[in-house]
Amino acid sequence: METFTNLSSEELIALEDRYGAHNYLPLDVVLSRGEGVWVWDVEGNRYLDCLSAYSAVNQGHSHPRIRQALVEQAARLPLTSRAFRNDQLGLFYQELCELTGYEMVLPMNTGAEAVETALKAARKWGYEVKGVPDGQAEIIACTGNFAGRTITVISFSSEPQYRDGFGPYTPGFKLVPFGDADALEAAITPHTVAFIVEPIQGEGGVVVPPDGYLRRARELCTRHNVLLIADEIQTGLGRTGKLFACDHEGVRPDVVTIGKALSGGFYPVSAALSSREVLGVFRPGDHGSTFGGNPLAAAIGRAALQVLVEERMIENAVTMGEYFQERLAEINSPHVREVRGRGLLIGVELKPEAGGARRFCEALQERGILAKETHRHIIRFAPPLVITRADIDWAIERIAPVLLAP
Ligand SMILES: *Cc1c(COP(=O)(O)O)cnc(C)c1O
Repeated sequence: METFTNLSSEELIALEDRYGAHNYLPLDVVLSRGEGVWVWDVEGNRYLDCLSAYSAVNQGHSHPRIRQALVEQAARLPLTSRAFRNDQLGLFYQELCELTGYEMVLPMNTGAEAVETALKAARKWGYEVKGVPDGQAEIIACTGNFAGRTITVISFSSEPQYRDGFGPYTPGFKLVPFGDADALEAAITPHTVAFIVEPIQGEGGVVVPPDGYLRRARELCTRHNVLLIADEIQTGLGRTGKLFACDHEGVRPDVVTIGKALSGGFYPVSAALSSREVLGVFRPGDHGSTFGGNPLAAAIGRAALQVLVEERMIENAVTMGEYFQERLAEINSPHVREVRGRGLLIGVELKPEAGGARRFCEALQERGILAKETHRHIIRFAPPLVITRADIDWAIERIAPVLLAP
């Protein structure tokens, strides 16, 4: 089958609108090609991608080494299911554990599934290891969290739109304000098995918690024998200038969920990482996924991790992140309340009277920059980690007039 199409953006948008469920409101840009930090629409216009597919494309679009791994593995053997073994999975496990320092991996596909895996592991650990009475396990999460869209995951969301109309919800979750360690301490009971937290809330609006918050959460979890689960699906794998955002505070969670950039954007690959004690609660048949840990995913994941490290993308996220944040702050726009973030996960929060971030994102699109509003008032700038100083200079020349316009 030939995938190339001669249809215009307008015609392709009409097809999407007619035949597809309207569960997104995308910018009206129809992309057909990508390379590094750049993408092109079907009319041939070029854009700097400042979303990176919500950080799934940290390694840049269509990275040649990851692409080669995909093509070679696809030609050899895409899927076995876990009913049989394959020659990529063990290597993927080993390389992931050696890179992250965790003892065990449970591979899945989407981020939400990795989160579900972490929650299932925590509950079973609670019953089998901690000794919580059956059916009584409690998990604490934070207001403003985002962890995906399954019914269990939205059951602990504080966002009305993510929940409304989708009940009844999975019980067993409690919410505490993000960044408030005292509230966490007060919420812990003898039945608490886990605290799940994003080290920086991405979808919540690039919210960076106060210094020391994760360290205190770590201490509280240790003291009360509660698993600390860090959802690093968006913040992990270099985005914030460290392998994991928790590394900024020297915090080692008991469980980490990763996804998104684990494939460099080629394929859904996610995982829960933890110890033998925690992931050891799963016995054959307890949990699984037809595609989880398939050889294509494993080969892609191996290559995605390799290029992240060998091409020093995490180091680049540190220097380019600092530079991008500085240049954004220098614009001194009357609409901007704050520029914040870590590494290349940057949020520009607008004042409420600026009329929302959407119009700014649309104006940026016209000038060749793709960014997406997160919540109503925040523009997120999260380009691929391969961005250069010259790319940022190019972007600032276009972002400045948009932020300075009335
Ligand atoms: C994107 C995201 C998820 C969900 O990942 P999906 O692949 O969309 O299911 C979970 N947690 C965080 C922090 C995310 O940013």
